[in-house]
Amino acid sequence: MIQGDSQPVEIVGGGLAGLALGLALRRRQVPVTVFEAHDFPRHRVCGEFIAALDASTIARLDLAPILEDALRHREVVWYRQGRPMQTQRLPAPALGISRHRLDARLAEAFVAAGGELRERARIALDAGPEGRVFAAGRRPRSSRWFGLKVHARRLPLGGDLEVHLAEQAYVGLSSIEDAKVNICGLFARRPISPDGPGSPGSDLLLRYLEATGLTDLARRLRGADVDEASFCAVAGVSFEIAPPRPDRICIGDCFAVTPPYTGNGMAMALQSAAVALDPLTAWSQGRAPWPDTVATVNRNLHRRFRLRLAAANLLHPYLLDPRRQRWLVLASRTRLLPFRPLYQLTH
Ligand SMILES: Cc1cc2nc3c(=O)[nH]c(=O)nc-3n(C[C@H](O)[C@H](O)[C@H](O)COP(=O)(O)OP(=O)(O)OC[C@H]3O[C@@H](n4cnc5c(N)ncnc54)[C@H](O)[C@@H]3O)c2cc1C
Repeated sequence: MIQGDSQPVEIVGGGLAGLALGLALRRRQVPVTVFEAHDFPRHRVCGEFIAALDASTIARLDLAPILEDALRHREVVWYRQGRPMQTQRLPAPALGISRHRLDARLAEAFVAAGGELRERARIALDAGPEGRVFAAGRRPRSSRWFGLKVHARRLPLGGDLEVHLAEQAYVGLSSIEDAKVNICGLFARRPISPDGPGSPGSDLLLRYLEATGLTDLARRLRGADVDEASFCAVAGVSFEIAPPRPDRICIGDCFAVTPPYTGNGMAMALQSAAVALDPLTAWSQGRAPWPDTVATVNRNLHRRFRLRLAAANLLHPYLLDPRRQRWLVLASRTRLLPFRPLYQLTH
């Protein structure tokens, strides 16, 4: 399909990065097909708060109408072993919106703008033809880390966001639309008691909360109205910085994964789409050859994210290891923990 004189762009992966890029390209009249292995709408394992999404990315991708009613979160309460440790005021509000709603809105807007969305279409992840962009999420890795998430109602929070540190685990609670709270945890695999026959998916989350010492949180979740349909799990979550792929354009998690505690993975997915937008438009309009386009996008992505990823990965072990957490508690009590500079380094 060639529209006017424009070359078509193919995007592999209809997550935030792929859909946002597809939508922005369509608004520039670039013909775009997004191939998505699953279908819409669906729940995804995600903390569902978007930290540090800058106004210029929102404007470049024209996302204001899609994010208009997202909740604005201003403070994060950090807990260690059930006890509040520090309340952090965010330099800019984080957005609270479910992936179920956000992805569905992006998919609808993309199709309404004339994009072709092929659901249940899994594409081989080899380099492919010119004009192919990879937005297929995290690269598969073997890892002991996995994520669990569920929505619940009637679960009052101690702040806009709660982050609970535990042994080899942390769990975020974030308010989202319709008076719901998203509970999402990152856990290291460990032996736990087997589930009973026919037990709901959220039982696994409860058992992991208990096994990692978050018994108070488990008790709160037991007292809430859990939306079982929203439960989901993802395995093989790895934070190793993947080797660059100079032969192709990868955006979002496919380019690089930031640890979930930053709440910045979704902002990075959107920012990487914004980085790729002009070079891909130029290629589509015949103003740049494909190898130069790939090189430009990769150079700009590395410039934009390199420091942030290094800092976020350096800090990550402090959140997971009980001995280092004790140091964090001490530093935050004595006000030695520079929350604001750390936030700026990792976002
Ligand atoms: C436990 C956990 C908690 C998190 N919490 C937060 C948070 O609170 N805030 C935040 O900002 N970020 C968070 N993140 C990170 C965030 O979810 C990701 O950074 C974000 O989803 C990346 O978007 P993406 O579009 O790159 O990838 P995805 O959203 O993963 O989308 C990739 C898409 O590609 C499709 N796909 C894959 N392979 C193929 C193929 N071969 N062919 C076709 N389609 C394919 C997949 O089905 C998927 O729909 C969290 C991550 C985890 C694991």
